[in-house]
Amino acid sequence: MITPDHMNEETPRNAEREPDDAEATRPIRLLIVDDEEIMRTFLNEVLRDEGYEIELAASGREAVDLLSAATFDIVLTDIVMPELDGLGVVAASKKLPYEVDVIVMTGYASMETAVESMKLGAVDYITKPFNIDQIRIIVANRVKERSLKKQAAEGQFYKELSRRDGLTDLYNHRFLHQLLETEISRAGRYDRSVSLLMIDIDNFKLFNDTHGHPAGDSVLKQMGHTLRRLSRNCDYVARYGGEEFAIIVPEVSTAAAARMAERICAMVDETEFEGEEVMPIGRLTISIGVATFPAQASTKDELIDHADKALYKAKAGGRNQVIVYGAGRMN
Ligand code: GH3
Ligand code: MG
Ligand code: MG
Repeated sequence: MITPDHMNEETPRNAEREPDDAEATRPIRLLIVDDEEIMRTFLNEVLRDEGYEIELAASGREAVDLLSAATFDIVLTDIVMPELDGLGVVAASKKLPYEVDVIVMTGYASMETAVESMKLGAVDYITKPFNIDQIRIIVANRVKERSLKKQAAEGQFYKELSRRDGLTDLYNHRFLHQLLETEISRAGRYDRSVSLLMIDIDNFKLFNDTHGHPAGDSVLKQMGHTLRRLSRNCDYVARYGGEEFAIIVPEVSTAAAARMAERICAMVDETEFEGEEVMPIGRLTISIGVATFPAQASTKDELIDHADKALYKAKAGGRNQVIVYGAGRMN
């Protein structure tokens, strides 16, 4: 059986944004905003020595322009400035298409404004006058926190990617086994059922031979979409291999799973796939084998085997039909 994991490099639709290598290695970009030149110069010197890439803005307005023109990681902004103040900078930072952390700098006299800025979304504040170490530490902490957050998001991205089939974006063979293991042990513990639908496209070789592999891939994608549309949110739809799919249906007995399979089989028959007129009955169809734990199987492997055997029987019986393990044709 072909496992689909390596067949297509497409990014799953619903995964996080793909981590970017260039993005990962670029230096941290800081924007320093203060209307006092002496303060800008001081902060620039201190923080440049830390290896950050720095831009300076002499007003809130200038800061907002710079923030929209380029990407920054951290903004260090004075609060009291003419025209657009630090609060305005914080508010504007929240509307950017990327995530930037704003630290506000405030005098002891305007603590209330510092609190106000945190409510607007500033991540931290520092009170003036501050010493060099204080400013270094507060920025370094923020850089560390951003990096941890990014690592967590990337970890999540790759985890999700490893579970999906590149062509259809459905769960892949390996993850289906994992899910089934979990669902069966849950069902066993709570005395519940879990059903498995094994689905295989009928005469798909003919479709491929007639229309070519790319057209076949397109049908597989459409089929994935159709199966997902026809299942409940709590069901797990997977591409089991080549043109074979599987749906794990938790909390559902044999009879209900059979009804669901019948509905899917009929809906796929009715769905129009481009090029399907070459199929033996003029339509693209599927066959489905159904088995339920614990009624017809007591382990994961047995459940798969029995759903597979039912599927085989559905093929032998003429295709475009549902067979429940241990039973005849459902109608
Ligand atoms: P049956 O009704 O008995 O299932 O007949 P079938 O032709 O569907 O079954 P068979 O196992 O003989 O052929 C499966 C075909 O599925 C062979 C292969 O060309 C096609 N196939 C498998 N994986 C892929 C894929 O990733 N992309 C495309 N386009 N075709 C695939
Ligand atoms: Mg087939
Ligand atoms: Mg097959």
